Amino acid sequence: MTLPARPPSFTPVSPVARPDMPWPELLEPAAPSPTEPRARRRVVGALLGLVAAAMLALGALALTGVAPWDREPEGATALDAKLERAISKAIVAAEKDGVALRVTSGLRSYAEQEALWAEGIETHGSEAEAARWVLPPDVSTHVEGLAVDVGPADGAAWLGEHGARWGLCQVYANEPWHFERVTKNKGTCPAPLPDAASLLDR
Ligand SMILES: [Zn+2]
Repeated sequence: MTLPARPPSFTPVSPVARPDMPWPELLEPAAPSPTEPRARRRVVGALLGLVAAAMLALGALALTGVAPWDREPEGATALDAKLERAISKAIVAAEKDGVALRVTSGLRSYAEQEALWAEGIETHGSEAEAARWVLPPDVSTHVEGLAVDVGPADGAAWLGEHGARWGLCQVYANEPWHFERVTKNKGTCPAPLPDAASLLDR
């Protein structure tokens, strides 16, 4: 490639310009500063962040006597908004059909689910058997605000039949009361799993 001829009126602008340099180079912006110092700054920033986090954790420990890593995870603070809208619409529609439908259990705290799980193990004799009916808190969609249990039995059956209109599906064949927003509105619900136990194997 040949460079265009140097314009006659050209005067180099860079103090380090040498007349023997091809002129396009002289006009190029200054090369970006090397990235190495920036990378070093990032590492220093990350280390400072870690130190700050550690100080906050120790501060919390001093104030509460409970280390943050010993505190229980909290799960969701509210029922998922889309699920709440869907079940609200379903309750209104069920009422129009003359069927009573209500939520018997929605969002559960981590501690509540942990208690249910312990109770389930005691009732059913083993984790594997309990998991058919109740899940540990780190697996349960109730703790994530993504599941509702409904009742009474007639209402649950009605929702099993019509729930897909709002994306609500029965997830486990052995729990006709447990619904999650699984499909899109007016979609088709997938076949329910036999029970929840398979979720523990994952
Ligand atoms: Zn449930």
